Amino acid sequence: MTSPVFSQDLPEVDRISTSAGDVEMFFIGHGSLMFRVNDFVIHIDPVKSSGKYDTLPKADLILVTHEHGDHLDTELINQLRKQTTVMFCNSASASRAPWAQVMKAGDIKTAGNVTIEATPAYNIVNERAKGQPFHPKGAGNGYIIKIGDKKFYIAGDTENTPEMKALKGIDVAFLPMNLPYTMTPAMVADAAKSFKPKILYPYHFGDTNTDEIVSLMKGTETEVRIRKLK
Ligand code: ZN
Ligand code: ZN
Repeated sequence: MTSPVFSQDLPEVDRISTSAGDVEMFFIGHGSLMFRVNDFVIHIDPVKSSGKYDTLPKADLILVTHEHGDHLDTELINQLRKQTTVMFCNSASASRAPWAQVMKAGDIKTAGNVTIEATPAYNIVNERAKGQPFHPKGAGNGYIIKIGDKKFYIAGDTENTPEMKALKGIDVAFLPMNLPYTMTPAMVADAAKSFKPKILYPYHFGDTNTDEIVSLMKGTETEVRIRKLK
């Protein structure tokens, strides 16, 4: 059973069926997503300025990729938190939400029926200043969320790293696509052609022209879906 909600108040949603039930993916905006499977609610990088949270349920699980203002919003997190809520995040985010549990790349945790693996998220070429990448290696996370027989990959703020390109068996991938912080459409396509997710959602794309990734992925087996994730 899912709680009664009214579609006109909700962000756009897609459904993916898994052996553990249908996963509803709510596209809140920018890097913010909400997944719901049965009545288990996962908020990913919940940030108030990215979309509308008034009608959304509280979290059973909160995942935060890193501490930048468009990913970590401690005030909203406190509003989404219940007594039983579990939060996993990178270490810099945990310094501002001390009840959260730190994950680093390679760590695996479970919450409810969901398994979460942290993945590396970092820049290789894009830097704030010489020698200062926007996202230094080892600082932020991406997450692979395993629900039933499906794997959902939320990349976080990252480029097309060798670790990303080596991923296997990803059903649904969310890859960030805006300069200067993350990837160009060409970099997103390079990664997606390598690890071949079944469905690709570019997200966190700002003003990047999404037609480019659609045309770059034409003829591949990956289905590109564009949603309101500016
Ligand atoms: Zn960032
Ligand atoms: Zn960001």
